[in-house]
Amino acid sequence: LELQRRTKDRQERATVEQVLDRRTRAYLAKLFRQGALLAVHGCIATGKEANVYFGRSHPPNEPESVVVSAAIKVYKTSILIFRDREKYIAGERRFRYGYGKPRNPRKMVKLWAEKEFRNLSRLCRANIPCPSPFYIRGHVLVMQFIGDEEGTPAPRLQEVRARRRAPSLSAEGASRGEEGVSSAPETMTEAATTPAESLYEQTVINMRRMYQKARLVHGDLSSFNILLWQGRIYFVDVSQSMEQDHPLALDFLRRDCQNITAFFQAEMGNAEANEGMILLSVRNLFEYIVDVWDDVDDIALLQKYQTRQEEQRRRRVSRSAQHADDELLSDDSTDALVFQSVRIPRRLDEVDEEQLDRIYYDRLLRLASSSSSSSYSSSASDSYTGASSALSAEVARSDDKSDHEVSS
Ligand code: ADP
Ligand code: MG
Repeated sequence: LELQRRTKDRQERATVEQVLDRRTRAYLAKLFRQGALLAVHGCIATGKEANVYFGRSHPPNEPESVVVSAAIKVYKTSILIFRDREKYIAGERRFRYGYGKPRNPRKMVKLWAEKEFRNLSRLCRANIPCPSPFYIRGHVLVMQFIGDEEGTPAPRLQEVRARRRAPSLSAEGASRGEEGVSSAPETMTEAATTPAESLYEQTVINMRRMYQKARLVHGDLSSFNILLWQGRIYFVDVSQSMEQDHPLALDFLRRDCQNITAFFQAEMGNAEANEGMILLSVRNLFEYIVDVWDDVDDIALLQKYQTRQEEQRRRRVSRSAQHADDELLSDDSTDALVFQSVRIPRRLDEVDEEQLDRIYYDRLLRLASSSSSSSYSSSASDSYTGASSALSAEVARSDDKSDHEVSS
């Protein structure tokens, strides 16, 4: 196994040696023997749960001569965070059968890596931009590298923003994110010139496609897990993405919507020229993603929601002109507050089986009371029509589930 290091940085070397334990080296050696992997270079990102390396790979189902850049994600096997994820995986349809309940954290990490591999495959099949998965061996995932041939990874949206905010910011400063990703200044400049509106539209259209076509909710979507390369966005980090019918899927989807909306709101407020750019409210974005109309294409539907957003805004403006003292009603934050008031666990692994049941039950109660409460429906009735269909779809789904449980 030939391990090349791109820099002599002492810290980086320490990371390489720390993560590439005996077992990891054995998996890598196997990939090398099989001709799947041709080189592993430096570390491009060190995260809480995984380190990502740059390398060269021969992708599966390609002629032998084809060699491409690869990202090699090595999950950390020693950390506690994976221990409790068993509950989450155990609750998933795809993992319900065929696996016992592994007590061994190392085995859990393998399941986790496998899940990311499967989720990436699903996204690719649904034409959602993400790295193509190449190989999975234990806790080592080899995938398409998003970035240049020299091994500079595509910047994350978060870094693109840092660059936009402070043009004088050095690449080093911009890349000193929470997970320590390195990006070159050229990349940042190129990315910084991409129009923000297209980024927003790409992001939300692909959130919808992920939900509708891949039937998955990302669950950890934020400007840290979206890469920008040559004007296109890519979703990464899908190991915890969950089935659409997971009891917490809609809660996580709502949080994804909040993260994305907050990011672009700040971005819009900062950009000098954003004419024609209509940002959906968190609620409208959520509605757009779950909307079941499938006779309209994703882009046309987004335009429809943007028109609705504008109409709501205009109505609010005229209403607040009429009742200057009625500030609260004129603000759609009231609506947003109702929508966002329920606490979502930060990550799925914070929830145990009992909590999951309770959250689910509470939500049903809440849905039941909100759909029968006239004050709720009258305040919301003029602003949107799709929400009730989403809520009733959710109730319907939960009914299905209890039917299913009763019958089984
Ligand atoms: P973690 O769970 O540790 O956050 P991620 O999958 O988000 O792991 O990867 C960490 C970082 O590595 C990402 O934020 C991104 O900058 C970089 N990265 C991950 N996958 C790729 C890839 N296929 N191509 C380029 N960079 C990547
Ligand atoms: Mg990440």
